Amino acid sequence: VISFTRMTRLTIHPERREAQAQAGVITLAVTEAARPHGLIYPPDPASFRTSTIGGNLAENAGGPMCFKYGVTGDYVRALSFVDADGEEHHVTRDAFDLAGLLIGSEGTLGLITEATLRLIPPATHTRTLMAHFPEVGACAEAVSAAIAAGAVPSKLEFMDRACTNAVEDYLNLGLPRDAEAVLLVDTDGDDLSTVQDELQLVADACERAGGTVRRAATDAEGAALWRARRSVSPALGRIRPQRMNEDIVVPRSALPDVVREIRALGDASPFRLVQFGHIGDGNLHPNILFDPRHEDTHAVHDLAHEIALVALRHGGVLSGEHGIGSMKRDFMTDAVDPGTLKALWNVKRALDPHLALNPGKILPAEGVDG
Ligand SMILES: Cc1cc2nc3c(=O)[nH]c(=O)nc-3n(C[C@H](O)[C@H](O)[C@H](O)COP(=O)(O)OP(=O)(O)OC[C@H]3O[C@@H](n4cnc5c(N)ncnc54)[C@H](O)[C@@H]3O)c2cc1C
Repeated sequence: VISFTRMTRLTIHPERREAQAQAGVITLAVTEAARPHGLIYPPDPASFRTSTIGGNLAENAGGPMCFKYGVTGDYVRALSFVDADGEEHHVTRDAFDLAGLLIGSEGTLGLITEATLRLIPPATHTRTLMAHFPEVGACAEAVSAAIAAGAVPSKLEFMDRACTNAVEDYLNLGLPRDAEAVLLVDTDGDDLSTVQDELQLVADACERAGGTVRRAATDAEGAALWRARRSVSPALGRIRPQRMNEDIVVPRSALPDVVREIRALGDASPFRLVQFGHIGDGNLHPNILFDPRHEDTHAVHDLAHEIALVALRHGGVLSGEHGIGSMKRDFMTDAVDPGTLKALWNVKRALDPHLALNPGKILPAEGVDG
């Protein structure tokens, strides 16, 4: 077991718009250190108060801002890693993009010790709206129409009715309990009229799709609307002590069918299931809520598998940002053909010949692929 908690050296280089961060640096600390220099680090997983740069790179973490600004890997200029023989290497994005191979490898190919991260100036203006819809399909249509019309919102988040009601039970924010889908949108930029025009494009698309739009009049009201989304985790924690947080990605056009099919799977199961996610990327987080003391955890795993199969049937993938790990390892044979699995094993062996690094993650045991 290797702990990175003492590797917390962080240096900001404003003249290069870069941060040099060791693996144990907490994600939010990068933006906090960069802000006095007029810079931010955009990748913003909801876990950014506790997650580390090493973990973010290992999972290629995303977040609400990533639809417009890109995911962790888009901000990595170089990284250092220790290989399975204990040798340290410094790699950039050229020459086989070995850094890119390490990003998203979930600790199975090397131990990331440090990264050079790109920083950007924050947008000057942000505008926020919340829209709610009588039907999930209408919400997905509105998102597609807004993007097709030229809007590139900085945040685009979706919550289904069960999720909205869980948050409402928790905080009583006045959210529409009857709405099948709630959409939260930010547009941002340096030119206020462009930011407002972009929000108008989104509002028009929502209304044309049958949604009801509420705009935040002030930054404080915008922050209050986002409180709903930020409160999802604690709200769900009140319902059951544990949750299986699924993480699938499907084409946006498939979202209405996918949300409905997963809803039906949840209704037919003994578990409570809620759905939310980064809808701009088609990234959905169906959450199965359960109590391991009284409920069958194998059944939870089976339901997660059914959800993964829905994503694959609709042309999606097994994971958007949480990775495969051990939970979805066995689903890999549904998603990846045997030849490709063999190629992945060859990469693994080339960098970790004794299979010492995070054994049992990502790749199903050899032989399973035939
Ligand atoms: C409430 C909550 C909300 C979340 N929201 C998001 C979200 O919005 N977006 C998102 O992408 N993820 C999200 N996550 C998942 C998770 O927080 C992210 O994947 C995060 O990037 C993991 O970082 P960590 O430091 O917690 O890593 P850990 O959980 O400690 O590790 C993750 C994996 O990376 C490996 N690893 C860790 N450090 C290194 C290293 N230095 N070198 C090599 N391998 C390493 C570990 O072995 C493990 O396999 C969320 C999690 C929670 C609990």
